[in-house]
Amino acid sequence: MGSACVDALARAKRRVLGIDRFAPRHALGSSHGRTRIIREAYFEHPAYVPIVRRSFDLWRDLERAVGGPLYTKTGGINIGPEDGMLVRGARASAEAFGVPHRVLSAAGVRRHFPGLQPLDDMVGVEEERAGVLFPEECITALHARATRAGAEVRCGEAVVGWTASGDGVRVFTAGAEYRAAQIVLAGGAWMRTLVPELADVLKVVRQPIHWFEPSIHPEYFTPTQCPVSLWEYAADRFFYTLPDFGDGVKAGVHYEGQPVDPDQVDRRTSPDEDAQVTDLLRRFMPHAKGHLRESQVCLYTNTPDLHFIIDVHPAYPAQVAVVSACSGHGFKFATAIGEIVADLLAGAPARYDLSMFRMTRFG
Ligand SMILES: Cc1cc2nc3c(=O)[nH]c(=O)nc-3n(C[C@H](O)[C@H](O)[C@H](O)COP(=O)(O)OP(=O)(O)OC[C@H]3O[C@@H](n4cnc5c(N)ncnc54)[C@H](O)[C@@H]3O)c2cc1C
Repeated sequence: MGSACVDALARAKRRVLGIDRFAPRHALGSSHGRTRIIREAYFEHPAYVPIVRRSFDLWRDLERAVGGPLYTKTGGINIGPEDGMLVRGARASAEAFGVPHRVLSAAGVRRHFPGLQPLDDMVGVEEERAGVLFPEECITALHARATRAGAEVRCGEAVVGWTASGDGVRVFTAGAEYRAAQIVLAGGAWMRTLVPELADVLKVVRQPIHWFEPSIHPEYFTPTQCPVSLWEYAADRFFYTLPDFGDGVKAGVHYEGQPVDPDQVDRRTSPDEDAQVTDLLRRFMPHAKGHLRESQVCLYTNTPDLHFIIDVHPAYPAQVAVVSACSGHGFKFATAIGEIVADLLAGAPARYDLSMFRMTRFG
């Protein structure tokens, strides 16, 4: 989010300094793990659809600007009980915004995508344009374009405090003090310390990700044959998978992670975490469940309603923007969020209804 804001602000001709306590492509926050899903029939809420549509366009622009692939179209499918949150939500968003999609019976899913084996009482909402972003490449590309537009980025420098007044902001790091007209706070899992008002609102949890070698029929799981998939495997409980880009089928449980201090994360997955996802693959994608090749631990920063925070700070609306756009589903939106933040700081009219992303909605 920070990289996308730096890029959008620099291209809006603002003089920008980006500060990160770690260097880009690090695996300590929420943006590592080689792949991220981007999808359009957004089950979480229809309000995300116009924003993700803009993101698709802006990722394409970024690809053209840096000349490297950042996105692969695989198609996507949302699988679960017909009256469950996932299928109902995906259909509602698709119908509200005319997202090309089709609803498949369980047998239809199995016939079209033999790697996916839903239960008979499940259906699939298949959407065309979903696919995969490569987050590390996306971040490198955002930095490259931002610095080309004049931004300066300092890595390995942690912000330890900031103040704001009518004149602007002061930002303190261990060795320096910076003055600026405005600041964007986009610290991911560390937002609770950067914005103390959010300390009791945000919950940071560990979220393991795993890569499995298909046991048989690897051709079922190639990016051209296998869509990204979201599954409601029990009421309001989800897991997701991405096709095999040469490093195995990726799978993870969505939410259900253990609360954690972002500075004290055990980066090894536990036997229980491995067993949970292995069991889900055994049940729903049995051919994908071969050898577990690799696991990593990533962090979600969740709001109570699992929607984002994209807002100006209520005490300093002209100086401070707050972006805590994680809740486990933010990456795909980063380019559009950069643009939204540039508008917010310029006092420009909002392109979307942002009321559901207000920082103060939790009282
Ligand atoms: C396992 C997993 C799977 C996911 N899958 C998807 C998906 O398929 N699709 C999707 O759209 N989203 C997905 N997400 C969510 C998405 O990746 C996150 O919403 C997004 O990456 C969050 O970005 P961020 O900028 O908020 O956090 P980060 O990328 O972690 O960035 C925060 C940055 O702030 C820096 N920072 C923090 N504190 C300070 C400080 N005091 N001073 C200086 N710098 C500081 C950190 O060093 C860090 O670089 C997933 C997340 C995880 C963990």
